[in-house]
Amino acid sequence: MDRQQEFVLRTIEERDVRFVRLWFTDVVGSLKSVALAPAEVEGAFSEGLGFDGSSIEGLSRISESDMLLKPDPSTFQILPWRGEDEPTSRMFCDVLTPDQEPAAGDPRHVLRRQLDQAAEMGFTVYTHPEVEFYLLDSEQPDAHGQLHPADRAGYFDHLTGSVSQDLRRHTVNMLEAVGISVEFSHNEVGPGQNEIDLRYADALTMADNIMTFRTIVKEVALQHGKFATFMPKPFSEHPGSAMHTHFSLFEGDSNAFYAPNAEFNLSTTARQFIAGVLLHAPEITAVTNQFVNSYKRLWGGGEAPSHVSWGHNNRSALMRVPLYKPTKGGSARIEFRGIDSAANPYLAYAAVIGAGLKGIREGYELGEAVTEDVWSLTTAERKALGINPLPGTLHEALRQMEESELVAEILGEQLFEIFLRNKRQEWDAYRVNVSPFEVSQYLGAV
Ligand code: GLN
Ligand code: MG
Ligand code: MG
Ligand code: MG
Repeated sequence: MDRQQEFVLRTIEERDVRFVRLWFTDVVGSLKSVALAPAEVEGAFSEGLGFDGSSIEGLSRISESDMLLKPDPSTFQILPWRGEDEPTSRMFCDVLTPDQEPAAGDPRHVLRRQLDQAAEMGFTVYTHPEVEFYLLDSEQPDAHGQLHPADRAGYFDHLTGSVSQDLRRHTVNMLEAVGISVEFSHNEVGPGQNEIDLRYADALTMADNIMTFRTIVKEVALQHGKFATFMPKPFSEHPGSAMHTHFSLFEGDSNAFYAPNAEFNLSTTARQFIAGVLLHAPEITAVTNQFVNSYKRLWGGGEAPSHVSWGHNNRSALMRVPLYKPTKGGSARIEFRGIDSAANPYLAYAAVIGAGLKGIREGYELGEAVTEDVWSLTTAERKALGINPLPGTLHEALRQMEESELVAEILGEQLFEIFLRNKRQEWDAYRVNVSPFEVSQYLGAV
């Protein structure tokens, strides 16, 4: 047993922890949890905890359903919302096959594989996400099918007694209690829409943090009698919810994206990384924007990026080089604005990082930064500037993904097939569904 494992066992004993939840994630990014009695933890560390992998979306085939959960002791945490007496705790797990090999369908493993490749090239990858979500009065629409935002606050509004404000304060306290630091939080543009920005961490820790974050936001909302949703676009008339993510690569202590005298202080490594993400953006979109509804955000205005471009102070760009103090070269980073709040963070990060690393490995050239507002250009103007659209629907995104050797390599053949199958089923169910929009448009029209 190693020291981290011993520390976990000791803490369980000293704090009189009654339940240890083992957490992992399915292919779409839903959190899965099994509660373990404290006496079972030692065995889970040494042999893993057996479960039926075929009952988890995307994890394994029926014929090889036996899987093991192996808790990662570095992620041990007491869960503050369960109360002080008889506390509950959690650990994230790696999913293994009965031969103790990483399971091909485990998203955490997919991300770790990319991070190992980055490490072989000498890089540690850091990310910081800005997570947007809506707070609603209830999960249930009213008798007219309408959803009700929890308040009417707009971007950066300070409303005294606003629900969002109380809720955000409570959420931030809870996040800090589990060791997740928050940089800032504010009301976003839509009514009831909020944003919380997490302080940077290495990409695997951050993907774990995002899973914890979503759980805490939902828990706190429920405690206040509200409902939180990370759905990409819950309202036709209001902006969708993005998970803009800032990426940086470090070589030891130095930021590999920083070059003091270059344009926007961007190093060649940074330019190649951006070029990789841009070139492969259409292929990875099914992963970063995985639902039918994701495309209503991308194409529904509200500052969502619908085209492939990069820029500096340009919010219509898919990738943006944010401003930072020139004295702080360490904070050089690039912001990818495509990912939505409903993405599986492990797979979405693996996809973006995999595309960026390919750009570095193969020395991709980066084109000019775009200064125009991409949304207001005509199609011909965009064409002249070499600005291509992102996929318009999940269907189109899947068509691009299935041709992609890069995505097959990033996800691994097995998960690649499972992902495509799962998503095609979603598209097929959607395309035969007659929506209220169609009834209102066509019933009386012909
Ligand atoms: N909500 C916008 C989107 O979906 C982002 C708004 C912003 O943070 N500028 O992309
Ligand atoms: Mg922001
Ligand atoms: Mg925002
Ligand atoms: Mg942003």
